[in-house]
Amino acid sequence: MNIVYTDNNATTKVAPEVVEEMMPYFADLYGNPSSMHSFGGNVGKKLQEARERVADLINASPVEIVFTSCGTESDNAAIMAALELNPEKKHIITSVVEHPAVKNLCSYLEKKGYELTCVPVDREGRLDTELLYDTIEKKADQIAIISLMWANNETGVIFPVEKIAKKAAEKGILFHTDAVQAIGKIPVDVQSSPVDMLSLSGHKIHAPKGIAALYVKKGIKFAPFLKGGHQEKGRRGGTENTASIIGLGKASELAKKHLNEMDTRIRGLRDYLETGLLAKIPASSVNGERNNRLPNTLSIGFDAVEGESILLLMDQTGICASSGSACTSGSLDPSHVLMAMKVPFESAHGTIRFSLSTYNTKEEMDHIIATMPPIIKRLRDMSPFWKK
Ligand SMILES: *Cc1c(COP(=O)(O)O)cnc(C)c1O
Repeated sequence: MNIVYTDNNATTKVAPEVVEEMMPYFADLYGNPSSMHSFGGNVGKKLQEARERVADLINASPVEIVFTSCGTESDNAAIMAALELNPEKKHIITSVVEHPAVKNLCSYLEKKGYELTCVPVDREGRLDTELLYDTIEKKADQIAIISLMWANNETGVIFPVEKIAKKAAEKGILFHTDAVQAIGKIPVDVQSSPVDMLSLSGHKIHAPKGIAALYVKKGIKFAPFLKGGHQEKGRRGGTENTASIIGLGKASELAKKHLNEMDTRIRGLRDYLETGLLAKIPASSVNGERNNRLPNTLSIGFDAVEGESILLLMDQTGICASSGSACTSGSLDPSHVLMAMKVPFESAHGTIRFSLSTYNTKEEMDHIIATMPPIIKRLRDMSPFWKK
């Protein structure tokens, strides 16, 4: 059976060009980039090229890129560094719709005595910037860090990072953004959006799992999360994951090249899928501000059916997507994102997230549009909540 893969916000296929570039560094070119001999030093040169490619994707300098093991580590490293360097500041600002990598760390820190402001979102998933700016005004000298995502992994809704970054800079408050979902889908430029730290992750942009980066703006103080060797200029101990770093470099180069296609062809496919499903399936609705979303993401709720059941039937036809439930916790409750948006329960419960990549085709969208209506009808026919 052919797989139709529309779960790219969960993870992506490693691009063949990325695999090809990584291969020599598993077997033949295994030198340690920190070694004095040229066998290792040559690997170091290749790492420098990767650093340049990642920096280029976000318009940073290579020296501002710190390689880490995953997006979660980047998020944790950024927030913990801010707290360590500002021990007198006890206030953290984040939002109610963050990825668990930020959300759960912040909850943990709150239990440890930090004061936490989780900025709410409205029914469309838009950040309450009035409350954010108000808190910034009132508590500027107590805020250790603001950590807000660039774009939401479930709905694709984009936060006004440029404005927030400028506001934070004015007040001298550190601002970190989790840009894991934004990277490769929309332009991300740390010059025009002057954030202090930014997380990105390889496996969301066609590099392997287990490699990521943290952008740390030149001039800001930083404390390593992993304390150890002098690697990454003392900002992250541990011998470099050379092959994967090289893969992330190649993936970054490809991501930059594909930005225009994301904005045009992939946005077109997403809109085609959205229009097709809305037209063919009654009582369906899109979650999130429609004209301010990542071009690849569609979160769509089908009333009176259950996301997990939809996914199971979709799986039988080879379509991979995600539901809007808090699947990681093993519960069938709607996700914290949909709940924070106050999406009605009957719609949140039946929410499916489709997330595309440049590997998707129009034929695949046609397949999904043809497959979904009978699945939803079958489940609704059995649902006590569906009013016929
Ligand atoms: C996937 C994701 C992460 C975590 O990245 P990992 O590399 O899987 O740890 C963090 N934030 C967002 C928004 C994500 O989508």
